[in-house]
Amino acid sequence: MQIFMRWKPASRPTSRLAEYESPVQPVPRTVVLEPGFAETKRVKVFGQGWDESAARVRPAVIAAPAPDLIRLAERWESRWARPTHFLVILGRVDTGPATAEERDLLWEAFGLPVFEQVLDGSNHVLAYECDAHDGFHVRRVGLRLSGCVLENSLCACGDPAPRLLPLPAPAYALTHRAGEDFARQ
Ligand SMILES: [Zn+2]
Repeated sequence: MQIFMRWKPASRPTSRLAEYESPVQPVPRTVVLEPGFAETKRVKVFGQGWDESAARVRPAVIAAPAPDLIRLAERWESRWARPTHFLVILGRVDTGPATAEERDLLWEAFGLPVFEQVLDGSNHVLAYECDAHDGFHVRRVGLRLSGCVLENSLCACGDPAPRLLPLPAPAYALTHRAGEDFARQ
């Protein structure tokens, strides 16, 4: 359990935990397989990854980086209750969004919708996948993602935030390398 002392200077790097942002409300029972998130009644965090105690939560939603979700799918045990609602991909700005291939693998394994979030190093959401799955709505002005182009027209989902739209593969896949996030537009 974390205890925060109020008198510490704000600029000091802390172990403060980010709040996991569910794409839907009320928050379905969720397991987050990434450290640095705060637990709540509905959100359980397993920073070391999926294990038997995570399975016992019987989550409706699993949130993790795409490669971790794919590895989990590959070693899924039939005795575990499958997630029922959707998956959340926790992406990073320096690696770019999950590839179409990664999404296909997850669809084949779980048959569930995917919502991706792009997080900064403190696990705060910089961009989030559109409800209509038509790109990423941007929360931070000027944010760019590898393999994506900015689209300012109003989205069909009604969210006024501008979107980053993934370019079609293979250009998309070619830019999916760390450190090249702004290389291609
Ligand atoms: Zn939208």
